[in-house]
Formats: sequence, C-alpha cells, structure tokens
Amino acid sequence: MSEPLTPESTVVVVGASLAGLRAAEELRHERHTGPIVIVGDELHVPYDRPPLSKQVLSGKWDVERIHHHTPDKLDALGLEFRLGRRAVSLDTDARVVTCADGSELAYDGLIVATGTTARTLPGTEGMARVRVLRTLDDCLGIRADLAAAGPEARLVVIGAGFIGSEVAGTCHGLGVAVTVVEALPTPLGRVLGDQMGAACARLHRDHGVTLVTGVGVDRLSSDPGGSDPVVVHLADGTDLAADLVVVGIGVVPAVGWLDGSGLSLDNGVVCDEGLFAGDAVVAAGDVARWSHPSLGEQLRVEHWTNAAEGGAMAARNLVAGTGAAEPYAPVPFFWSDQYETKIQVIGLPGPDDEVVVAGGSEEEGKFIALYRRGDRLRAVLAFSQPRQLMAYRPLLAAGASFDEALALSRG
Ligand SMILES: Cc1cc2nc3c(=O)[nH]c(=O)nc-3n(C[C@H](O)[C@H](O)[C@H](O)COP(=O)(O)OP(=O)(O)OC[C@H]3O[C@@H](n4cnc5c(N)ncnc54)[C@H](O)[C@@H]3O)c2cc1C
Repeated sequence: MSEPLTPESTVVVVGASLAGLRAAEELRHERHTGPIVIVGDELHVPYDRPPLSKQVLSGKWDVERIHHHTPDKLDALGLEFRLGRRAVSLDTDARVVTCADGSELAYDGLIVATGTTARTLPGTEGMARVRVLRTLDDCLGIRADLAAAGPEARLVVIGAGFIGSEVAGTCHGLGVAVTVVEALPTPLGRVLGDQMGAACARLHRDHGVTLVTGVGVDRLSSDPGGSDPVVVHLADGTDLAADLVVVGIGVVPAVGWLDGSGLSLDNGVVCDEGLFAGDAVVAAGDVARWSHPSLGEQLRVEHWTNAAEGGAMAARNLVAGTGAAEPYAPVPFFWSDQYETKIQVIGLPGPDDEVVVAGGSEEEGKFIALYRRGDRLRAVLAFSQPRQLMAYRPLLAAGASFDEALALSRG
C-alpha cells in the first residue's frame, strides 16, 4: 500500500530517457513542487532513440534535433540531473538509491525507468567494428566506422528485428553493401508471424539487400590489429567478410541494479495494474512488466509510445497512491521505418494469430492486415497506410470482434 505523495516530497527517477523524462514532466504538470532528481548513466540529457536507426544514422538530422527539449524548456522544469551516474542498488526500507560513485539519494517516491540494454553476441566483447545500436554513442560509432570504411563499405547486420532491419535500410540508402542474417525463417516472424514476416523480407530483397534466413551465426573472428575485415562465420559454413557488423538480436531489461532490493524481477520489474512495483516505487517504459487490465496478460513493451504514456501514468499514480491509482490499459502501438515503408502496428499481434489482408495490396507494399485470435480482433498492421490504420484503434480499445473489424474494412 503506497500513500499519496505530498507536493513537496522528493522524487528520484532512475533512467534519464523517455519514460523518466515524461514521468518528471507529468509530476510538474500535477503541481509537484518538490525536488525531482533524475539519475542517468549516459552523459547526455534525454534524447529520442528512434532517429538513431533512421535520420541520425543517415546523417539527415543533426544530433541536436533528437533532444526532447531545448535547454531553456528543460531548465524550466526544474529537474536535478545526475548524469554519467549509475544506480547500483536500492534499499526500499530506507528509501535510498545508491550510485556507483558511492553517492546516496533518499526518496519519498521512486520511478524506475532504466529501460533495456542491447543483447550482445558472446565472444564479441571488445571486438573492433562489431557494434550494437541502443545509444547515441553507439550510433555515432557506427557512422564513424562506415565513414572509415569508405564508399565500398560492407555491412553485415545480425538479426532482422526492428533495429537490424532499420539499420539495413538506412545503410543501404547510404550506398553501403548490406547483408542481413536472420536465424528464423523470416524477419520479425516471432512478432508478426511468418506471413507478414515474408512481407518484411520482400522489403530487403526488393531493394537488393542480401537477406540470409534460417541460418544462425556460429562465431565472429577479427584481426586484433583491426585492419582486416571482420568475418562472420555462419552455421552452414558460409563466411561473410564485413567492414562493420551490427548485432541486433534483442534487448534485456536493465534490472541488475535492483538485485536484492526485494522488488519482483522477472523479465523486467514486475508491477501491478497501476505500475506500482513496491511501496512508493513505480516503474515505466521498456523495463516495466505489468498486468494489463483489459488484455489480462503480463506485458513488457519495448516501444516508444508505451514509454511516453507509461512514464506519465506511473507519475500520476505515484502521486495518487495505490488507493487512487488508475489501471494502465493502453492499446499498444508501434512503428518502424524500413526503406520507404512505414510499418505500424496497433494491438498485440502474435505469431500464431490468423492474418487476413483486409485492404490494399501486399504486392504493392501498401496494405492493412488484421490479426485474429478466436473471434476477437487482436491487432492491426499497416504497411504505409497510416490513416486507414487509425480507424481500427477504437475497435481494439473496445475489444471488438474480428467480424466488426472485417465490416469496417469493407466500408
Ligand atoms: C535505435 C532505436 C530505434 C528505435 N525505433 C523505434 C521506433 O521506430 N518505434 C518505436 O515505437 N520504438 C522505437 N524504439 C524503442 C524506443 O526508443 C524505446 O521503447 C524507448 O526508448 C524506451 O524508453 P525508456 O525510457 O523506457 O528506456 P531507455 O530509452 O532504454 O532509457 C533507459 C535509460 O536508463 C539508463 N540506465 C539504465 N540502467 C541505469 C542505471 N542502473 N543507472 C542509471 N541509469 C541507467 C540507460 O542508460 C538509458 O539512458 C527504438 C529504440 C532504439 C534503440
């Protein structure tokens, strides 16, 4: 049971990114006048990650453009940033967060917003020109490696998930020779199912990007001097030489610092319907796994809109206390820009759902696909049909039947 917060109390936010910033903004919006301390282990003030695999990677946008706020607007929020500082432990009885430099931060309310970190390939730690893409520094590193490799640069992307596929598309646009390796039969098959995974595969192949599917990576080797290509050894015996390898094989929730805190940790920070993880502790964004009240499932969502909406909701509930907390029941939404295609999904698609293309044409790469589970509409996916997609949002919010969705698609 968490009591409501008084407006003068101290709130500590761990994680200086989207969920943490939105939470802090919401606290000020709720007229919280007390100190708000934001701890972040990156050196940057909060910035937006989606452009890292798109406009910043391509060089279309300057880095300044991805900051959420101008310095003046950020100052006006009156937040106390502790950047370059890593939280290493939490004592929920004493209500203290301890950082790697030994500093201790006492709180009345705590917001956990530490997100996720990119999974790496075992054995590649410290290997030059083998990178992941999670942070601005990762993005600038990829750009530097590509620039150093020159106009004949060869990139191997391991993993055709959202990040890997976007990196492939953006780098292809820069004239880089790209090969994508995916262990599963189709890109994104685990999220969207194989039929829509095949549509994603076409995006790569139609652009002349080599896509190798159904083959795992055995190991990587590189010359310690760093001048020879990195070699990606595939499980089928093929060797791929690369000037740069980007590993996009998913993420893991950043919860190590919470070991021993007494919070429940299981594929993220386990929260109730109102995002409470413990007494005076809420969690939001990629790190939070909560009981979605209407979907009846424990969810952890790794997308932008959830971090923004969940951050704000966690802050409101922290202020209100558990007695007056609102359940967090968003209709999940995400997008991904690959080549010239905008992929958008509302709802929760599953790989085993039945998929019906209900508008547009797969051949033209512009269509709407409906996901059915039982007699319910489970999710809607759009390839470059943003306006049409949004018409289905109210149906998903209302838990509509699949037949209602089909009727909508027929006009
Ligand atoms: C390259 C890229 C492209 C993306 N594109 C899209 C897209 O097109 N569409 C979409 O919907 N989503 C996209 N996403 C996902 C979206 O950016 C994330 O869902 C969102 O950033 C999650 O925000 P968050 O605040 O929960 O966590 P994060 O953004 O992961 O931030 C967590 C912060 O906490 C810090 N931290 C972690 N542990 C500690 C600690 N112990 N102490 C202090 N600080 C700590 C981390 O360093 C990080 O700065 C993309 C993500 C990436 C990386």
